[in-house]
Amino acid sequence: MRDPRYDILFEPMQIGPVTAKNRFYQVPHCNGGGYRDPSAAAEMRGIKAEGGWGVIFTEQCEMHHTSEITPFIELRLWEDKDIPQLRRMSEKMKTHGALAGIQLAYSGINGPNLYTKEVPLAPSALPIRTFTNDPVQARALSLSEIRDLRRWFVTAAKRSKLAGFDLICLYGAHGFGIFQHFLSRATNQRTDEYGGNLENRARFVNEVVADIRDAVGDTMGIALRVSLDETIGELGFSNAELRDFIEMNRNLPDLWDLAHGTWEDCSGPSRFKEEAAQELLVRGIRELSDRPMVGVGRFTSPDVMVKMIKSGTLDFIGCARPSIADPFLPKKVEEGRIEDIRECIGCNICITGDMTMSISRCTQNPTFMEEWRKGWHPERMNAKGDSDSVLVVGSGPAGLEAAWALCRRGYDVAVAEARTEIGGRVARESRLPGLSAWGRVKDYREYQLRQRPNAEIYLDSRLTADDVMAFGFQNIAIATGATWRRDGVARQHVVPMKIAEGAAVYTPDDLMDGNIPGGNVVIFDDDHYYMGGVLAELLVQKGAKVTLITPSAYVSDWTRNTLEQGTIHARLDALGVNIVLNRGVAEIAVDHVVSNCVYTGKTCHYQADAVVMVTSRSGNDQLYRDLMSRQNEWADAGIRSVKVFGDAEASGPIAWATYAGHRYARELDCEPRGDALPFRREITELAAEHTPSPELCLHD
Ligand code: ADP
Ligand code: SF4
Repeated sequence: MRDPRYDILFEPMQIGPVTAKNRFYQVPHCNGGGYRDPSAAAEMRGIKAEGGWGVIFTEQCEMHHTSEITPFIELRLWEDKDIPQLRRMSEKMKTHGALAGIQLAYSGINGPNLYTKEVPLAPSALPIRTFTNDPVQARALSLSEIRDLRRWFVTAAKRSKLAGFDLICLYGAHGFGIFQHFLSRATNQRTDEYGGNLENRARFVNEVVADIRDAVGDTMGIALRVSLDETIGELGFSNAELRDFIEMNRNLPDLWDLAHGTWEDCSGPSRFKEEAAQELLVRGIRELSDRPMVGVGRFTSPDVMVKMIKSGTLDFIGCARPSIADPFLPKKVEEGRIEDIRECIGCNICITGDMTMSISRCTQNPTFMEEWRKGWHPERMNAKGDSDSVLVVGSGPAGLEAAWALCRRGYDVAVAEARTEIGGRVARESRLPGLSAWGRVKDYREYQLRQRPNAEIYLDSRLTADDVMAFGFQNIAIATGATWRRDGVARQHVVPMKIAEGAAVYTPDDLMDGNIPGGNVVIFDDDHYYMGGVLAELLVQKGAKVTLITPSAYVSDWTRNTLEQGTIHARLDALGVNIVLNRGVAEIAVDHVVSNCVYTGKTCHYQADAVVMVTSRSGNDQLYRDLMSRQNEWADAGIRSVKVFGDAEASGPIAWATYAGHRYARELDCEPRGDALPFRREITELAAEHTPSPELCLHD
């Protein structure tokens, strides 16, 4: 069972009037579902309860209709009608003795109010700051409106209690919550008793905490989430000022929740941030207060967690992403199954669900947000169907996830891999600059498969249709991946582009194979995710002079959704990469490329000894097509099904491949669902048609 050196992680700890059963604290995190998918979000939290977390929080919950962050989909607590939805969540959270927490957010300078059309209110009149740069400004709260806002917080706290929560977290971090907007001189330029010196800027949070304590503090614990450093220089709420604030207000909340300045800082991807990256900013704060503290840092190692507590840095181990990648992390530590922890790889794909207002995915845990929609449990598979064996061709993320999930269902599984190493694209990409943590996708699954008597892995085994026919497996799972295209086809060019004979054209696959060009190298990035930027880094490391040309207005455009676009731009700039935005590559000559402006079509030349095409990928589906063309031979070969999935079917990020592999494994031997929707969803209940509309002016 549990290694005694982890005992400290299981010591209970008090938070105001309530006690957490252990130190595993799931900090608030978004999931792209929010109020639109209440049961999906609730079930996801319930799975964490089962996985042993001591404290489980909601995502941010907009506590009043005068402040909301449309288009992003979070929770809402605007009227009593919202309570049942939230109660469903708190009940799920509490199923295994965890404390249920709700994060109350008033977005202030971050709430454009696109949905409610209310004029945004903030400490000072400034433009709204969100990811979407909406052309909307907030006006400054008057003194009487500050009193209103205090009352709204009390109302929200009372509703939270009715909804069954044990803890309230007041959001004042990541630049998102109004408490930070009051605390920071950048967003609080008031000259009354709420602005100016730190004592004045801290007045609002002091008042709200006191109000809430009066209202519900006898039964609910109050946490305050503050930024460790706003990282915007002198004007901002710096780490030094945070320390002053905590020292001056030692015992203000029942728990201090320390998060980093911006969300990008706090949830930095592994490409740029190590585990426990915030340690230096946190160290020493513990001594400034008698209240317990929680902090985050993509903690996946129980040894690091123990160190955080033993060194007196933190009392609770705050996790968002590690709890998504493995909702059973605490349970696995408790049961002495450390090697079974599915470690977060820090890719931030989970965050893209929120940023794209869709629903979140996780590269490592394909069941995330499918717990209710599809009934997928992260630790339990459905029972085996009536066939027995599966040959999985390809050991990339799709093949490995399928194999591992099929093994757990009880199938006999063989994985055949053409290369001499396991892992497909993750093995190869994890050797690129900054991506080593991505290797965990392979490591975890390889380790698990090797423990299983019903799994075999064959390397150096490139299979043909004849091979497959000869083996006698009942089900053939084709996960043979994809190959980067050399002909420029992607978005700018939907048919092969003009390339002069003799031009040196490379693909990301060439570079990953160690075939790396030198001299003046142009990267044509019409893929827009991480690959173009990562290869620019690799080429600079190898001595090339790099120009990265992209038709987008941003380098590595889609990484805005993984919160790293700004860091990538800065990194490439520091490396001396010539970043060319809003331009395509119209044609490739032997020693230069012709580039065209995406708006005007005006052309210019960039010198190029070589061009790297980061454009799109073609599925390696030849084996699949060969097998499909021989269906009349299947019965004799004992084959019942042949399926293609993952990048071989249609290329996408790694998370799409693990999802596809998992889905294949879940659905093997199951009744086809025909045209039925393959997941559950909730739709808004219609109001009665004749509900009278509220009269805003009764004297008309
Ligand atoms: P995915 O992301 O869909 O899992 P990858 O490209 O990561 O795809 O992995 C596909 C793997 O399949 C690669 O490691 C590749 O070497 C392997 N592969 C491709 N064709 C064959 C084949 N005919 N036989 C065995 N393995 C193959
Ligand atoms: Fe971690 Fe990536 Fe999963 Fe997010 S999507 S929890 S960053 S592995």
